[in-house]
Amino acid sequence: MSQLPSSQEMERAYLSRDASYDAVFFLAVRSTGIFCRPSCPARKPSPRNVEYYASAREAIFAGFRPCKRCHPLESNDATPGWVVDLLARIEREPRGRYSDGFLRSIKVEPARARRYFQKHYGMTFQAYCRGRRLGKALEQIRKGVNLDDVVLGFGYDSHSGFRDAFGRAFGKSPGRSRTSDCIVTSWIESPLGPLLAGATSEGICLVEFTDRRMLEAQFATLRKRFACAIVPGENQHIRLLKKELSEYFKGSRKKFTVHLVYPGTDFQQRVWNQLLLIPCGRTVSYEDIARRIGSPKAHRAVGHANGLNRIAIVIPCHRVVNKSGELGGYGGGLWRKRKLLDLEQGKTTVEDDASPQNKSLEPAYA
Ligand SMILES: [Zn+2]
Repeated sequence: MSQLPSSQEMERAYLSRDASYDAVFFLAVRSTGIFCRPSCPARKPSPRNVEYYASAREAIFAGFRPCKRCHPLESNDATPGWVVDLLARIEREPRGRYSDGFLRSIKVEPARARRYFQKHYGMTFQAYCRGRRLGKALEQIRKGVNLDDVVLGFGYDSHSGFRDAFGRAFGKSPGRSRTSDCIVTSWIESPLGPLLAGATSEGICLVEFTDRRMLEAQFATLRKRFACAIVPGENQHIRLLKKELSEYFKGSRKKFTVHLVYPGTDFQQRVWNQLLLIPCGRTVSYEDIARRIGSPKAHRAVGHANGLNRIAIVIPCHRVVNKSGELGGYGGGLWRKRKLLDLEQGKTTVEDDASPQNKSLEPAYA
């Protein structure tokens, strides 16, 4: 991901509809699935529901659709009518096959479409269509539609076809730089939905639910942090992770032994290291973590670092809850956080989570 302003700055910008930030960042609203320019005239979403993207492309690939009021895909110059028409068609039917032949049939020269999309959206027309199709498919998975139905319903011929589409959207071929370590990524089925795992030769560097909107941003961060390509594959760390995850979901594993690599800022690392100390079956508050890393006032920054954890489940960011005992947020979806905690606590109801017992857990491992 290219450099974004700080989240406070972006929050201020969109809440005040500051048009000078248009094209600097885009905001996407989790609850509606729409992304906007900062200056959008529509009612402003609560910052809690907002994710930021540096480009429309990232927002598209994360599964968001362009807002109908502020038209975030359109540049400030008037968008040609044929583009407006084309975008509307794709939005109505993202499963369609928009071949060159089809473009010609609606009097659009394919080369022109390619040039326009490349220039204005930083991707080819076909990549845009794939992105919307994949985005819509992910949206269905997020809504709980069965993976098989989604795969077939969106015209992927098989799970592996869907995975390949994923690979094309998120991966990069190693090209000529074969000297550097690459990150291998594997798809892992779990009772809470498919996960994508990534590993270097040193250890696991990514575990994310595949429908998570952060995924592409996480990939970009990984590419930057490790300066290497991301390719489909498997290594010994991924194999061990698969085994341990399956034991974890069966309830027979409380601790992971798989090697982890999680570069980050100094602050992030302190937070993530603390997360690793929270025992299975326990929860702590953001304030607890803040105190523990010696920055008692930084609970919001702790929450942010927590949300940027790239190794879901294994680095247990889901064990951090609000001081009130409420679940707080979870990038993979609150329902998953609840299920993970239930699994770890051997509980069947979530109401129990809100009881004061969680607040008194702190000294247990301090
Ligand atoms: Zn908008």
